[in-house]
Parts: sequence; structure tokens; C-alpha cells
Amino acid sequence: LEKELEVYRELPAQTLDGHRLILRGNVELAREVPAVLAHGGAGVGLFRSEFLFLNPGQAPGEDEQFEIYRELAQKMIPEPVTIRTLDVGGDKFVPEINLSEEDNPAMGLRGVRFSLKEHNLLMTQLRAILRASSFGEVRVMFPMISGVDEIRACKDLLRQACAQLDERNQSYDADIKIGIMIETPSAALIADLLAPEVDFFSVGTNDLIQYCLAVDRGNEHVAYLYEPLHPAILRALKMIGDAGRKADIEVGMCGEMAGEPVYALILLGLGFNELSMNAACIPRMKRIIRQVRRQDGEELLAQLLDLPRARDVSRFVEEEMARRF
Ligand code: PEP
Ligand code: MG
Repeated sequence: LEKELEVYRELPAQTLDGHRLILRGNVELAREVPAVLAHGGAGVGLFRSEFLFLNPGQAPGEDEQFEIYRELAQKMIPEPVTIRTLDVGGDKFVPEINLSEEDNPAMGLRGVRFSLKEHNLLMTQLRAILRASSFGEVRVMFPMISGVDEIRACKDLLRQACAQLDERNQSYDADIKIGIMIETPSAALIADLLAPEVDFFSVGTNDLIQYCLAVDRGNEHVAYLYEPLHPAILRALKMIGDAGRKADIEVGMCGEMAGEPVYALILLGLGFNELSMNAACIPRMKRIIRQVRRQDGEELLAQLLDLPRARDVSRFVEEEMARRF
């Protein structure tokens, strides 16, 4: 099968009725980049920058981060690279950063909440990202946004980082695209208010499912409740997709759900136009997308939204997929 899938590398992820999706790779370490290219990924849709901070005693400074981001951007030309700012806390441990003990870290100082408190780390990272943006198409994305104030504060710091580079006469892309992860229930519920603030959304289903369903993503005792096809998740995704399209911004997904072929039709129906996934998943998703029409996805979705349980949705989808493939 792997050999058979190779033909998809050069082909666009285009439906039979002519809708183009963009499939990109998720990257944690720079050495995963060749796999994105080898599997025909259109750039990197999620660079999890916290992985740069994993070696104790070696937190990368501005120049070091800049070199890493620049190399990444250059390797992906002409496709873009979306760098997510540091997402620590919750289930993400970074040895360099002493987070205070919290009773409930998943709901604590994590993602952008941490970055907005520790300005210096974020400013260093933003300068490095901005400098890299003059060497390829770089985008910046903020994790764990739960309200409009946070994204405004992030954009404010980004402007300050630009001003600092201006003072140093260092170049950057002044039109750098700014996006946010939609991974909290509040962000999903106010997607229409967040959309005008940014150039793109990327849905982090790993966290969105955890928070919407109140199911710890790493807790085996409640793993049976972690259901991507729960009606609440489908409705949340629909709200996000609708809000993004209405504001005419790009709506992507970079959680694990984006790379699962059984969800391909649903994601098409929801109107997601960028899916970012583990590189190895790209060819299979492309193969499915090239064999269906977006309208098929829309029709399927319409039949799913009123089903009461994840298992009802899942049975319906599996039957539809079995009928088609
Ligand atoms: C997500 O939450 O879906 C996501 C992509 O981010 P992470 O898995 O790094 O939290
Ligand atoms: Mg997340």
C-alpha cells in the first residue's frame, strides 16, 4: 500500500467537484521535516515549538531559535510553516521552565496564559519567528486562546517585537499571518468574535475534545469518553467552520482528528480547508479526498448533526465509508 500511495505525493488534495484542500505536516523536531516533504505535505501546519525546550539547561535563545525557524522555512519553500508559540503547562512539561505547582494544570497557567505572564520568553520567540519570516513563508500561531483579550495582547506584543527589529534594522515579513488555535470551548463558542482578529484558525481537537467533554486526554480511566464524534464536538466544529468561513479566514485543523481518514468526509462537509497531520497520514487522506465530492461531505454531515450519540454517528460514518471505499 505504501508504494501505491506514492503516486499521491505530487497530486493535489482536490475533490471530484474541484475543491482544494491543503494537507500539511505536524512537526515537533526539525528532523521530521524530510518526512513531510516525502509524503507530499504542503508545508508545516503545526510546529510544536515547545520541543525546542526539552533539553535541560539548553533553552534556545533568540539566535538559536531564529536559525531553526529559518532552516525550517527555507526547506519548505514555497509552502508555509506555521510556528506555534511555546505551549507549556497542562500535559506539556518543559524542564527549563519552573511552572508553579497547580492542582489542575490543564486548566491552569498553560499555553498563551503562561506566555503572556512571562513576556520575555514570548518576546524572544516572536523576534526569532519574525526574523525567520523574511526567509520563507512563516506564520505565527498562539495556543490555548480562550478570549479576545488574549489574542489582542499577543498581537500587541508581536507589534512590539516588530518595533524592536526595526530599531535593529533587521528585516521581517510585516504581513506575517497571525492565527490562533481553537482548542477551548470558549474559543469555539465565540469563534465569530475571534475570527475578525486573525488570519486563520487551526482547531486543536486533542484539547478541544478534552475540554468540551471534560475528559482528560491522558487519563485511561475516562478514555472511553474521549469521543471525537460526540455530537457536542461535531456542533463545536460546525460553529468554528461557519464562523471562519463567514469572516473569510482560513479554517484549519491540526489535532489528531485531522489525519484520520474516517473523518475525511465530515471535515470536508464542515468546510475545513487546511488539515495538518503526522506526515505519514497525508497520502491516505489525499487518496480519500480525491475520490469524493465536497457535496458528499455536506450531505453526510447534515445527516449526522442530529444523531444523539457518538456511536450512532460513528456507525453512520463507517457504513458510508465502507459503501464508498
Ligand atoms: C491539539 O490540542 O489538538 C493540538 C494540536 O495541540 P497539542 O496536541 O500540542 O496540545
Ligand atoms: Mg493543544
